[in-house]
Parts: sequence; C-alpha cells; structure tokens
Amino acid sequence: MVLVEDDPNIASLVDMYLRQDGYRVFQASDGATGLDIIKQHRPTIIILDIGLPGDVDGIQLCRELRAFSDVPVIMLTARDGEIDRIVGLELGADDYVTKPFSPRELVARVRAVLRRSDGGSRATLPPILEVGEVEVDTARREVRLKGDPVSLTAREFDLLQYLAENLGLALSRRQLLDGVWGYDWVGDERTVDVHVLQLRKKLGETLRVTTVRGVGYRLD
Ligand code: CA
Repeated sequence: MVLVEDDPNIASLVDMYLRQDGYRVFQASDGATGLDIIKQHRPTIIILDIGLPGDVDGIQLCRELRAFSDVPVIMLTARDGEIDRIVGLELGADDYVTKPFSPRELVARVRAVLRRSDGGSRATLPPILEVGEVEVDTARREVRLKGDPVSLTAREFDLLQYLAENLGLALSRRQLLDGVWGYDWVGDERTVDVHVLQLRKKLGETLRVTTVRGVGYRLD
C-alpha cells in the first residue's frame, strides 16, 4: 500500500496501525513523490491526502493515477464538504475518510475497499444497480425511486448498495456489519435492524427487503 500524507503525525499513526494489521506501507509526503512510488511499487491500495504541498495535490494525483491504473483509492480530507466528495467521486476515489478520523476506522475502510475490489465485483457490477424501481447509482452515490432522488445517510447508502450487490442472498446481521460497518466495528447487531427500518421507511414497499428469520435480511 502507498500512503501519501504530508502531516508527519497523521502519517506515522496511520502507518503504525496499518503495519499492525499486516500491510506493507510505502510513504510519500508530496504528490510527485507519491506518484513515483505508486508507479514503482504498483500497490493494491492507495491512501491519499487531498491537501498536499507542491504542484501535485491529492486531486491532481488521483487524476494522473486514473490514466494508468484503477487501483482503489481512499481519500483523506480535512473538509467534510459535499464538493470534496463529488470532486473525488468524479476522479474515481473509492472511499473517503474525513479528518479527524480514528485509525481503526481507516483500517476498517481499507479492508472493506480491498474486499470489494478483489472480489472482482468492481469489474463486473454496473455502476447503477437496479432493484425494481429503485436505482442505486454507485458512482454518484445517489439513490432514485421511480427516477426521483431519495436522501439517504452515508451508512444507509452503503447498506443498500451492499444488499443490492448481493441480490437474492440471505445475509446475516454479522455479514452486513462486516461488509458495511467494517470488521472493527463494535456494537449492537440491532444497528442493522435500525438502518433497514430507515431504508424501508424512505423507500417504502418498492424496496423488497425480506427479513430472514434467525439470520438477517435478503434483498429481492
Ligand atoms: Ca495535508
């Protein structure tokens, strides 16, 4: 993995957690060096700070990267603005973490992104998943019901996307927690129920989420 981050405190903390989790980390503190290291080591994932010194910031780096690679990218941003998210999405970032973040959360996101990418699902699944009259636009992170956008929280969106990617499969609450919340997430399995309830509320009868007794949920 390559970590491009100019803040030495954040870089060393992230580096420590990722190494503990078994990743080999190559570091760069500016965009141009980052790009060189990426070309040299061909990492399986890149963690990229948006605000970097020099001519090549995170956004520029991602743009140049996408010309030759579709390696997963997790962006670190200091600004929790929608603009950052949209700009990043157009550039093909796979996930975002807003500063300040917990290193554990970042590690969980890394695992989740790697799991999605090496399952081959990135290559084969279309960017827009259609579930009846519900469209899950994974590129724009937008959900539409009969063509009208529906406002979901980030977690609700992730849950719906995960269910849609596993259409017709009964998924246990644990599987959903691992896949959507990440392996490190500690909490009550009923969190899943609460989020499913929200999805049902917002998308109504058209969303066919079936409760599988003693297991979890299945989207049909
Ligand atoms: Ca920075």
